[in-house]
Amino acid sequence: MAEIFYKSMNRRTFIKTGLAGIGALVTIGTGNSFGLRKSERKATRWALLADTHIPADVSNNYRGFYPYQNLQKVVPDIISALPDGVVITGDLARLTGELGDYANLKKLLNPIAEKSPVFMALGNHDNRENFVKVFDKVPGEKQPVKNKLVTVIERPPIRLIILDSLLYVNKVSGLLGKAQRQWLEDYLKECDNTPTILCFHHSLEDGDGDLLDVPRLFSAIKPIRKVKAILYGHSHAYGFSEFEGIHLINLPAVGYNFSDTEPVGWVEAKLTAEGGDFTLHAIAGSMNKDRSVKKLAWRV
Ligand SMILES: [Zn+2]
Repeated sequence: MAEIFYKSMNRRTFIKTGLAGIGALVTIGTGNSFGLRKSERKATRWALLADTHIPADVSNNYRGFYPYQNLQKVVPDIISALPDGVVITGDLARLTGELGDYANLKKLLNPIAEKSPVFMALGNHDNRENFVKVFDKVPGEKQPVKNKLVTVIERPPIRLIILDSLLYVNKVSGLLGKAQRQWLEDYLKECDNTPTILCFHHSLEDGDGDLLDVPRLFSAIKPIRKVKAILYGHSHAYGFSEFEGIHLINLPAVGYNFSDTEPVGWVEAKLTAEGGDFTLHAIAGSMNKDRSVKKLAWRV
């Protein structure tokens, strides 16, 4: 099982180091844009998921939803969309981040991982040690932030940064923490002006169960104009809002909703240097917005 995730990384490293300039010779067989020269990449296409809540027991269910079956259902849909990559913004595991949860998650994601790299953030229902045991080889450039899993993904014309807001396993609130925020500020100062999207689990309200250092994060990124959007989950709701022109994109849950008015599903994104188109793929819950497209322009 590990091999396929490992292959994703090898393929990426191989292309980056070996054949990046040759363009047309690099065919992945999936129609994605890894092999294209930077100048040729006008857009990158992503599958965005949150709150998969995969259980060790496949029959586990909540509010009438079966998280294992839900992910199983969206996998072929994602594969047929041929994304350049997949991001899952945490709450990967059912409740407490058990090894069996991650083993099932890996099994379910393998058909995707054979074709596109899968990047995962940790949520409050994940366990960092157990996650790393099962996903021992993952794609992306891992960053030196102590006790946090932070990854930078350069996929022109966009950069994604996966941050880690897991504070305590199976307690609701989250925290990036001072060291990670400092790393982020330093990194954003140093990197080029590629439009950058931050991805992590926790929601951005001011409740006790949200990301507890939201004001500090916001004041840090507000003046850094290359930060264009934040992708997050946690609320099991689909919605768009803004802070100082930074788009805040709340991804729907794959596992289950908390309210009948919310969709269950995933979001297909086409990202350019100027903005993004976000298409909802609802599979359950409210189907009202299924296939609706939200168009966003990045701040300049
Ligand atoms: Zn959740």
